[in-house]
Amino acid sequence: MHEMSLCESIISVVEQQAKLNNFTEVKMVCLEVGQFSGVEMEALRFSFDCVTRGTCAENAELKIIETEAQAWCLPCANTVRVTHRYDACPKCGSHQLQVSGGDELKIKELEVN
Ligand SMILES: [Zn+2]
Repeated sequence: MHEMSLCESIISVVEQQAKLNNFTEVKMVCLEVGQFSGVEMEALRFSFDCVTRGTCAENAELKIIETEAQAWCLPCANTVRVTHRYDACPKCGSHQLQVSGGDELKIKELEVN
């Protein structure tokens, strides 16, 4: 499961931060997940619970913010919102869209004790 390894890398970043900043308990982890990242939210939550066991984030609340992708339309020179990677431009119907964003997964915020 792809989400499990994602959570493992998130936790290793959190633990690094814990060492650097001398905190012992994480209260909340807020993740930013792009809508094209292919991440299954349910699986992400499940994996997070598994990998945080025995770590400083064991009792942390997981918040997930889903971020939307944007695309630049070449023919009509507009920045438009897309919900699927191969969507047509909602303004002119062109498929010459350059999609940016939507596939990130990063820690947006940590709340610690
Ligand atoms: Zn267009």
